[in-house]
Amino acid sequence: MNAADDKTIVQNYFNSTGFDRWRRIYGDGEVNKVQLDIRNGHQQTVDTVISWLKADDNLTDLSICDAGCGVGSLSIPLAQAGAKVYASDISEKMVGEAKDRAQQVLGNNHNLTFAVQDLESLSGKYHTVICLDVLIHYPQEKAADMINHLSSLSESRLIISFAPKTLCLSLLKKIGSFFPGPSKTTRAYLHREVEIVKILESCGFSIERQAMTKTRFYFSRILEATRK
Ligand code: SAM
Repeated sequence: MNAADDKTIVQNYFNSTGFDRWRRIYGDGEVNKVQLDIRNGHQQTVDTVISWLKADDNLTDLSICDAGCGVGSLSIPLAQAGAKVYASDISEKMVGEAKDRAQQVLGNNHNLTFAVQDLESLSGKYHTVICLDVLIHYPQEKAADMINHLSSLSESRLIISFAPKTLCLSLLKKIGSFFPGPSKTTRAYLHREVEIVKILESCGFSIERQAMTKTRFYFSRILEATRK
């Protein structure tokens, strides 16, 4: 399967069954136990990133690009805290939901702009570029192009999260693929941390902060890379 096919499948998924599933997971309504675990894990990832940015005490001076923003779980609190946020996602449905949520929380806040756009077509310059839990949709051989592009948008900092390719997770994934449920309609790609760090370094970044969110069903390695 080529990359364009991969991307179309992901886009279609997040405009249909994936939208229903992830809107619920990233919401506060009733969900099953696995989904609740993923919801809590994802919230920890979002909270970690927000705590890093708040600790620097300069959020109101920052322009932030949230690439693959989903339903706005990160963009909305960042705009609420005073950052200027440009949020985009390949899925029209996810962006529609994000806009509705933003309207409820922020009203007509001019700090937050949304666009339906795949991240390869993003342009411009931002102090900080953030891309959370999107690399899972990219095979290893596409990760370098993706990170290279995100780094071209970033003046100072790139924050990226991914499911790390560890022995344990690889095994879990293998077991999972023996029992493909209806929700597993897209492929999930794990990434080796050394490879991701190598790509970031080749783009002129060094790792500043790092964290790992780990619950029963959710795993996300978060790296903050800053320009040397
Ligand atoms: N970053 C959000 C968060 O952490 O709340 C959403 C994470 S969700 C697992 C992955 C999101 O990435 C989906 O909303 C999907 O539509 C988006 N996505 C996947 N591939 C993309 C691409 N090539 N360009 C832009 N968005 C993409």
